[in-house]
Amino acid sequence: MKYFVALAVCFSVSAGAADTTYTAADFARVRKFDAHVHANVGDRKFLDVARKDGFELLSINVDYPDFPMLEKQAAVAHQLQKEDPQRFHFLTTFTMKGFEGPTWTADSIRHIDDEVAHGAVGVKVWKNVGMVEKDAQHKLIFLDDPRFDGLMNHLERKGIPLVAHQAEPKNCWLPLDQMTTENDRTYFREHPEYYMYLHPEQPSYETLIAARDHFVAKHPKLIFNGAHMASLEWSVDRLARFFDKYPNATADLAARMTQVQFQSNADREKVRQFFIEYQDRLLYGSDLTENPPDPHARAQNPPDNGQGFEKEADDFWRSDWVYLATSDAQHIDAIKADVKGLALPKSVIEKIYYANAHRVFARLAQAAAN
Ligand SMILES: [Zn+2]
Repeated sequence: MKYFVALAVCFSVSAGAADTTYTAADFARVRKFDAHVHANVGDRKFLDVARKDGFELLSINVDYPDFPMLEKQAAVAHQLQKEDPQRFHFLTTFTMKGFEGPTWTADSIRHIDDEVAHGAVGVKVWKNVGMVEKDAQHKLIFLDDPRFDGLMNHLERKGIPLVAHQAEPKNCWLPLDQMTTENDRTYFREHPEYYMYLHPEQPSYETLIAARDHFVAKHPKLIFNGAHMASLEWSVDRLARFFDKYPNATADLAARMTQVQFQSNADREKVRQFFIEYQDRLLYGSDLTENPPDPHARAQNPPDNGQGFEKEADDFWRSDWVYLATSDAQHIDAIKADVKGLALPKSVIEKIYYANAHRVFARLAQAAAN
C-alpha cells in the first residue's frame, strides 16, 4: 500500500507537469487560429487540412503582383467563407491606383465597407506603401502620409482592424552571406526588386520603421496588427519596446518563426519570457499560401516541397506547434540548427493560437453568425 501511495504521488507530480504544457500529440485537438494565410484558390484543400488540424483561417487579400488580381482574391475569399463561415475568414485590402485623385479616399472607404458587409474582418496594407508606390513628384508614399488620413480615420472610427506589412525583415538590408535565415536568403535572391541591399538609394530599414511607428502614433485608437512580427523579427527586445510604446498594437508571427528560433538558440529563456510577458499581443500566423499553379512562380512561403499543399501545410503547422508548445528539439533547415521548443504554458498557447485573434478581429463572431 505504501508503495502504491508513493507511486500515486509520483504520477500526480508528472501529471501536474504535463498539465502545464501541451505535447506534440495535442496538436490537432487544440483549437487554433492561423491569422495570416493566403488562400488564392477556390478548391477545398486549404479548408480540408485546416479542419483536420484544428485551425480556423484568416486569409489576407493583398495587392501583390505574384498573386491573382484583387477581384479574383476577393471572389475566392467570398466563396470559401460561404462554404465554411465558422472556419474561413478574410481581410480585404485597397488599391493604390488613383491615390492622388480626388475620389481615392471615398472609393477606398466604399470598397472596404462593402467587403466588411460581405464578411471581411479587417483591412491589409502591404509593403508597396513605403517601398514601391510613388506620387506625381516621384516621391515614395509612406504610411504616415496625410493623404491616408481620411481612410485610416474611418477604420479607426469604425473599429475595423488594420494589418500592416511595412518594411521587410532586417536581413533585406544585409548581404546574402550575413542573413540569419535561409528562407530570407532564398526570398531575396528570388526577389531582387525587394532586396534593399541592392538598392541603397531606397529608404533604410530604420526610415521605414520610423514612418510606420509615426503612423501608429497618429492613430492611437486604431486596432493595429503588425504582420511578420511588425518587421521587428530580429529582436524580441525591440518588439517589446514597440508593444510598450503602442498599446493598440499587436503582431503576427507569420513567416518569421525561424527568426525567433535563431534568437532562442542564443538565449532560450529570454525568448520564452518575451512570449509570456507579451502573451496578449502575439497572434499565431504562418503565411501559408495556396496559389494557382504558375510555372513562373518564384519563392513561396514556405517553398513547395513537391508533396502537395496539404502535406506542406500540415508539416509547417506541426513544426511551429512543437516549437511553441513543447520542449522537444527539432532540426530547422532554415537556420541549419537543432532548436529546442519553448514549452510555453497552456494558457499562453491558447491566447497566441486562438483567443488573441478573436479579440483583435472582433467581427469574427459576427461574420460567422451571418
Ligand atoms: Zn503574407
